[in-house]
Formats: sequence, structure tokens, C-alpha cells
Amino acid sequence: MKLTEKIHLLQIDFEIAISPDKKIPRFVNVLLIFGNKITLIDTGVKGSEKIISDYIRQNNRDFSEIDTIFLSHSHPDHIGSAALIKELTGCKVLAHKAEKEWIENIEIQNAQRPVPGFFNLVDRSVKVDEYVSGGQIISICDDITLEFIHSPGHSKGSINILFKEDKILFTADSVPLKNDIPNYDNYFVLMKSLDFIKNNKNYTILLTSWTPPFNDSKEIYNLLKDGEEYMKRIDSAVKECYKINESDSMDSCKATIEKLGLPVFFVTQLVDKAFRCHFNEL
Ligand SMILES: [Zn+2]
Repeated sequence: MKLTEKIHLLQIDFEIAISPDKKIPRFVNVLLIFGNKITLIDTGVKGSEKIISDYIRQNNRDFSEIDTIFLSHSHPDHIGSAALIKELTGCKVLAHKAEKEWIENIEIQNAQRPVPGFFNLVDRSVKVDEYVSGGQIISICDDITLEFIHSPGHSKGSINILFKEDKILFTADSVPLKNDIPNYDNYFVLMKSLDFIKNNKNYTILLTSWTPPFNDSKEIYNLLKDGEEYMKRIDSAVKECYKINESDSMDSCKATIEKLGLPVFFVTQLVDKAFRCHFNEL
């Protein structure tokens, strides 16, 4: 899908195997910038290089023109095909420094953040060649300037990207979707990042990794408000259902999920970890 002449959005479908007999469909957005060279923002899950390559060919360009990959963060559905694309094209990979370890060592990431079916989503680590940081501005070509915004909470080094001329803000996984799987590592910081997105007046199109683009200001307002309210609802349910210093059992996670009226398959180690971060100090 063309967002502008040079900025395209490619939706990559995949499934998360939450148990041997239960798979949930999801998708993740990859952004392509067709400048003098081709720049990718995120790479989708393992195997996405074929879809990306086909899309590039349909636009009369060549896969070998990929010059740079920016990774919004380290999670498997964003970095899944980065290693192979880098190997095939010789492109460089950029990400925030706080995401380096999990991008460069997926075994460590899986041990510390066990997404169900992790290795179906990514099977290779990739080296980060350069870091990007909040406030950094990079010119891609004459009329495309990217401003990087550090937006932690979903992960420590999550990066949002503002396309300055086209007024598009790519928020990756920073905006929680109402009733979606609770998925963050710092509740307080996530709320601050959400606030920053809400108060940023430099965009008219908001693009997440999990939704079609939003270009209506009312819809954007509602998306952010719903995300914020959902997080607050989770916070009060967690405070009711978890006791400080309690054991590692999943009972409180289950009780919280039930209280929120969410599907029982949300009861996972990953969600339990997100809930427990509500007790961390800022
Ligand atoms: Zn993520």
C-alpha cells in the first residue's frame, strides 16, 4: 500500500502458536522507503524477505537496492528476516542501543521474554551496525527526513519515527490496543510515552505495527484514549489481584485476565511479567 509516492506499507501476516492446538492470527507492518536507495523500517517475521522482495519488484526496483534497515525494537515479529536481508543485500542495521542485546542474541531474548513459538518468528540473530537515539534526525533523500523518538515502555529501546515532511508518525508497538494482549515491560514509562504521542502535534497520520494507518484526527484521538484507558483498567485489576511479594504462581495472572474479561489464553508468562511491572517504581 502506498502511503505516499515514496513511503509504502507492507502488511505481513503470521500466526502465534500459543499452544500446540491454538494459533492466533496476527500481522505486522513493514515500511519501505523508495529513495535513491531502499530503506526498510522493520522486517516482519522469519521468511518475510520473499514478500518484501516481491513487493519491491512489483514497484520496478530491486531487492539488492536495500541499503538500510531501521529496527523499531528487538521483538521477533520486527526483526525476523533482518539477518537474511542483511546477508543478501549487505545493508546496515540500525536500532536503539537498549535493544542491541536482544537483537544480537535471540537466545537471550527468548530466555528473558518467552513469546510462544518464538523461534517460528525469528531464527537468527543479527548484528546492529549503528545506533539511533531519541532526537536524532536522518535525511533519507531530498524530501524524506526521519526524526527518531525514544518511546520506551513496550520495550526499553522502542523507537518511534516521524516522517517530517509527510507528517506520518510510526509508533510501532508503543500504543496498546484495547483488549489486546498486555505486552510491555514498564507500565509507568509506557504511560509517559503515550502521553508524548498524544501531545506531539507534528503528525496527521498515525501508523502502528498492528493496524491500518489512521488519518482522521478523531480516530487517532480515540485510539490513544482507548489505549490509555485500557492500561489504567489493567493497572487497577492488577493491584486488586496481585499481592506484593507473592509467589511466582500464575493464579494472579489468571484472576486479572478474568477480571478484565479477556480470553483465558492470554494467561502466559509474558503477560504475568507485564502485570508484575505495575509494582516497579518509576
Ligand atoms: Zn513488540
